[in-house]
Amino acid sequence: MIRPGPTAIPSSEKPIELDVAIVGAGPAGAAAALALGGRGLGIGLIEKAVPPRYKTCGGGVLRRAVALLPLDLRAAVERECFAAELVHHRPDMRFVCRRDRPVISMLMRDRFDHLITTAAQQAGARLFAGTTVLDVSPGPNDVLLDSSAGPMRARFVIAADGANSVVARKTRRPELRHVVPALECEVTLPPEAMAPLLHAARFDFGFVPSGYAWVFPKRDHLSIGVGTTRRGAADLPAYYRRYLDLLGIGQPLREERHGFVIPCRPRDGLFGAPRVLFAGDAAGFADPVTAEGITGGILSGQLAARAILEGNFAELAVKRAYRDLLQQSLLAELRVARCLAWVLYDCPRLRIGLLRRHGQQLSELMTQIVTGETSYAAAVRRPGNYLKLFRGSS
Ligand SMILES: Cc1cc2nc3c(=O)[nH]c(=O)nc-3n(C[C@H](O)[C@H](O)[C@H](O)COP(=O)(O)OP(=O)(O)OC[C@H]3O[C@@H](n4cnc5c(N)ncnc54)[C@H](O)[C@@H]3O)c2cc1C
Repeated sequence: MIRPGPTAIPSSEKPIELDVAIVGAGPAGAAAALALGGRGLGIGLIEKAVPPRYKTCGGGVLRRAVALLPLDLRAAVERECFAAELVHHRPDMRFVCRRDRPVISMLMRDRFDHLITTAAQQAGARLFAGTTVLDVSPGPNDVLLDSSAGPMRARFVIAADGANSVVARKTRRPELRHVVPALECEVTLPPEAMAPLLHAARFDFGFVPSGYAWVFPKRDHLSIGVGTTRRGAADLPAYYRRYLDLLGIGQPLREERHGFVIPCRPRDGLFGAPRVLFAGDAAGFADPVTAEGITGGILSGQLAARAILEGNFAELAVKRAYRDLLQQSLLAELRVARCLAWVLYDCPRLRIGLLRRHGQQLSELMTQIVTGETSYAAAVRRPGNYLKLFRGSS
């Protein structure tokens, strides 16, 4: 626990008073603001960029994430993928899983995040765009924020300010522990070169050490990326170049490269800052198997909002509610996912053996998980299914 800090306010400026200050208008923050809307509360959504803003991301929104939002996302979706293709290299294997409904909705994050943010504004949240939170001082009854728009005071803060969370730093939370580097490129090709890659979301394993490469088709370009779960272990730009060669892509017509990190392990000391709840990447809630963080972002943002309402703004009741809600859902999922990620990325022999014997079943199981047809926790709780895969019977 950190000690409640001083809530000293510069005498010249009166703080903007809020019930909940949400820092960051990514999926986590915007979903939290939307969930808190429509109740007459003073909700501030504080975003350092001016939406819509580019975000380094594959823009693959899994069906389980789409299902969480009470919104029509069609305006933001660039392409629906009804199939996921898993390609394994050395040895070569290929598995395709199809569904009648989209497995992954492909979109660009500027429009997606903006769509949720706009819905939150319509529900009553006040957007502070182009406003950077500079400092955070939690106190026993409220939290004081110093921002580029002046001081703000809130009864609760939801920290949804991403992997490099300023709120975490200013409230002296421990560093995130498992932060995965990834490189994302927006690539435009001639139509005939793009056509074979438009039909599925493609994931390549056994190519980047302890990681994977992907092709996500958008409306008129491809998002192509590489990521590794080993920090500093791979020269990602070199792997990206080799991946283009492997896909038979020569010189793209247009190519924009962006690198960033994905936090794949919940932050230690998550509940230790008074009146501050961490959500999304700021909390380290990306899936360690897929490195997908939008589901965890939206879900944790919504749970943080729910905890504040259920706990009626009482510090201990809110914290307890948030911890319980997370334990029952996201944290239980991430624990199982960590074990699977270990097999997938750290035990190549085991991975190859399992894929050789059960590749299609495991790919189907993974598809069931990312579409929300089942969950990691439910999959391992069903001993019949689970053991069947690992025993070798079909
Ligand atoms: C290369 C790459 C590819 C990825 N591909 C996918 C994918 O295909 N699908 C998927 O689900 N996930 C993907 N992810 C992960 C995903 O992008 C994140 O997990 C997700 O964006 C987390 O959402 P968030 O709302 O927690 O944080 P963010 O989306 O990072 O939003 C945080 C917001 O806070 C704002 N902010 C930061 N600091 C401050 C401050 N001091 N004051 C005010 N505002 C601030 C930022 O401007 C930002 O808008 C990928 C990540 C990378 C790096």
